[in-house]
Amino acid sequence: MAKSPETEHPNKVFGWAARDKSGLLSPFNFSRRDNGENDVTVKILFCGVCHTDLHTIKNDWGYSYYPVVPGHEIVGIATKVGKNVTKFKEGDRVGVGVITGSCQSCESCDQDLENYCPQMSFTYNAIASDGTKNYGGYSENIVVDQRFVLRFPESLPSDSGAPLLCAGITVYSPMKYYGMTEAGKHLGVAGLGGLGHVAVKIGKAFGLKVTVISSSPAKEEEAISQLGADSFLVTTDPQKMKAAIGTMDYIIDTISAVHALYPLLGLLKVNGKLIALGLPAKPLELPMFPLVLGRKMVGGSDIGGMKETQEMLDFCAKHNITADIELIKMDEINTAMERLAKSDVKYRFVIDVANSLSPP
Ligand code: NAP
Ligand code: ZN
Repeated sequence: MAKSPETEHPNKVFGWAARDKSGLLSPFNFSRRDNGENDVTVKILFCGVCHTDLHTIKNDWGYSYYPVVPGHEIVGIATKVGKNVTKFKEGDRVGVGVITGSCQSCESCDQDLENYCPQMSFTYNAIASDGTKNYGGYSENIVVDQRFVLRFPESLPSDSGAPLLCAGITVYSPMKYYGMTEAGKHLGVAGLGGLGHVAVKIGKAFGLKVTVISSSPAKEEEAISQLGADSFLVTTDPQKMKAAIGTMDYIIDTISAVHALYPLLGLLKVNGKLIALGLPAKPLELPMFPLVLGRKMVGGSDIGGMKETQEMLDFCAKHNITADIELIKMDEINTAMERLAKSDVKYRFVIDVANSLSPP
């Protein structure tokens, strides 16, 4: 008989889990493996709340495997390191992001693209190489192979830096790969949430002109005065949308729900690129006319490899880029999820795990 989550490993851990597609999170006892030779055990300080956590607890994609302990924007302290661990020592401040395993020998892994390894394993809602289930960062601690642990730059705060581990790398990697970093070019950021607001800041650090493309007129003032966007386009304003046709070189689309691509593709110049990062529950329609007639391109991108994630953290430290966060206690998570579903967050919830997660 399969062992229970609480007894399958030697070390008892406390966290919060969703048990079914209601998505309601509640206290959960489980266990983690002993720290292996290549592992780092991380005491979790803070964990960001990504929309992927929400999609997963609600089973939006149809493959949630309950109970789910979400959380993949983790900052903490290394409390144990295995004997083969060279990159970290006890007491180091470290980060853990969206993936915690890969085969480490395929073409993707050899190119530091562990995120595209066919055997890549996600930090939660996935099975690890030992056949047991991965539980994420809404918990006391996590045990991770050193390859998937990040050095957390000294100048980055642990709380507002945590979202960089998913939101940061997810927008940074496509900007680099698709050549969207040429100073002076015009970037549109569709959806001003966790990913979107970090995209604005990273875009500005690359010297781009940044326009937010949003369905929320109430976000305009802050997008410009606080986040540093150059302009703000409300998708429900047909006149402004019309005036902006053919003005953008690139668009990063972070919208979490099903939406029309036609108006976004229209905003691109000839040869423009739209990179889709959002993962709505249902497929989008791809209109061919604006693509074909303007030699435009639609691409996708999934987080980033470990080397590039470290590069992104160092880049953000150098440019003083952090997330704008609302810090919450663990037991406020269900209300936070309700607000996230309504795009009502400025701009990332982060759980103060170490100070608010107390075992019963
Ligand atoms: P988020 O904080 O909820 O932001 C999403 C934004 O999309 C919202 O703030 C809202 O912006 C806009 N939006 C939401 N519903 C909309 C609707 N019905 N119509 C139009 N716009 C809508 O989410 P996030 O954490 O940034 O994640 C965004 C998406 O990326 C999710 O689907 C997530 O799963 C996915 N994701 C992908 C990767 C990857 O590697 N590719 C990594 C992380 C997350 P406005 O209010 O400005 O309109
Ligand atoms: Zn995420």
